[in-house]
Amino acid sequence: MTIFGHLHLLRVIPLRAVTFCINNTMLSASSSSANLLITHHNHTKAIDSSKKVLVGVCQMNATSNKADNLQTILDLVASAAGRGAQMVFLPEACDYIGESKNQSVECSEPLDGNFIHQCQKAAIRNKVWLSIGGFHQKAPEQEKSKLLNTHVIIDLDGNVVATYDKAHLFDLDIPGKVHLCESDYVLPGKKIVSPVQTPVGRIGLLTCYDVRFPEISLALVQQGAQIITYPSAFTQTTGMAHWESLLRARAIETQCYVVAAAQTGKHNPKRSSYGHAMVVDPWGAIIAQCSEGTGVCVAELDLEYLERVRSEMPVRLHRRTDLYGRIAAPESQISTIPPDDCHSYQFGHLKITSNQVIYRTLLSFAAVNIKPVVPGHVLVVPLRATAQFSDLSPAEVTDLFLTAQRVGDAVKKHFGATSSTLAIQDGPEAGQTVKHVHLHILPRKQGDFKENDDVYQQLESHDQDWTPITKLRTQEEMAEEAAHLRQYFYHS
Ligand code: AMP
Repeated sequence: MTIFGHLHLLRVIPLRAVTFCINNTMLSASSSSANLLITHHNHTKAIDSSKKVLVGVCQMNATSNKADNLQTILDLVASAAGRGAQMVFLPEACDYIGESKNQSVECSEPLDGNFIHQCQKAAIRNKVWLSIGGFHQKAPEQEKSKLLNTHVIIDLDGNVVATYDKAHLFDLDIPGKVHLCESDYVLPGKKIVSPVQTPVGRIGLLTCYDVRFPEISLALVQQGAQIITYPSAFTQTTGMAHWESLLRARAIETQCYVVAAAQTGKHNPKRSSYGHAMVVDPWGAIIAQCSEGTGVCVAELDLEYLERVRSEMPVRLHRRTDLYGRIAAPESQISTIPPDDCHSYQFGHLKITSNQVIYRTLLSFAAVNIKPVVPGHVLVVPLRATAQFSDLSPAEVTDLFLTAQRVGDAVKKHFGATSSTLAIQDGPEAGQTVKHVHLHILPRKQGDFKENDDVYQQLESHDQDWTPITKLRTQEEMAEEAAHLRQYFYHS
């Protein structure tokens, strides 16, 4: 059977906040009632895989009372940790919800203020990672009439490992129902933050209204996100109409887990939130959801299952980038997928071990060569093993060349070259010996060949007469070079 799961039973489960994943059965709540759909996934894996982790997702009703809100946060974090969660997600505006714009700005704190400090202590005390879905961060002095809506990731040692300032601000006027103009007092974030490696997976940070803009979540997937998180304070009106549909759509199209902590209930006479904090799996099933009021639900994330959904329905290969272009993250924020995500990489009939790989994306990898024609001669290879260049999808072609451009720049710099030769030997008559499309990158220097075209002659012949005495580089030599080159792509 393929991964086309089926919906079967309908049952009412009056639980307050539950984990809906029991053996092979996924339970999900419908948005309009407390009824729960039981989804039989014939592709759900047996429990107890090493890639399974628990997350706690919180729902709360913040007011303008900062001390009360902090106490609620501390209780929720302790409760989720007590239930085995390795990472706990809190909603947007978990520090407070002001009763006026002025109050929101006046109560804001810097990143090193008391609120985040207390959260850091809670992470250490409970030995969990935290997503502080949104706190009101004081803006720089020259913009002090406004604040930043900042999502903060804290590790279990209490370090702030990433911050993301909400990019899309919620300016909405539905007469008689909702009037909110976030841009009156909040500065919009200026960048996408590369996915953060955590014990529960690589997390892409977004906030609330960002959920309506699929482009930003697709950019995060390009960079390697496995989980997208949307801590929210969704209004009642928009929540009832769109919350569940938007979250499930983002999960299905990105093939990521979507984790959405939420504010709920009445915060003040002017503002109420929809609640329904939830976790959606990469197939679009709601696997955990909070019910009424303050609480936490715990969900199991399974990264092997995520890989299976992605490989059985490889939408990333089917993108028609030739028709509508590619969502491209800025240069500084490209793939964070570590080469060691796989133990080895298929290269035609060969296996390339991961320590030879210097960079990888969703669709391609780059590896050092066992017998370089010149120092720094590397290969860029599509992950999908296909023999001919014309077999590649538009998305794969785009990714191959963007990867080649990035890797080419790095090897040129590393080997002190001034030019590069890029070549694809497409077919045996063109000199291809490994039947898997690949692009050679050769950093070039003045005078490196007697005649410039000699490079092509050597490229064609360098691997055609391998004998037992041919000098090939050892695995250790290649791993050492790859480790140096990885520094151009991965920090730390
Ligand atoms: P082609 O002749 O165009 O098919 O190129 C194949 C390339 O793969 C040559 O540059 C080889 O040196 C290289 N190659 C073959 N085996 C390995 C290996 N195990 N690791 C890295 N590069 C390899």
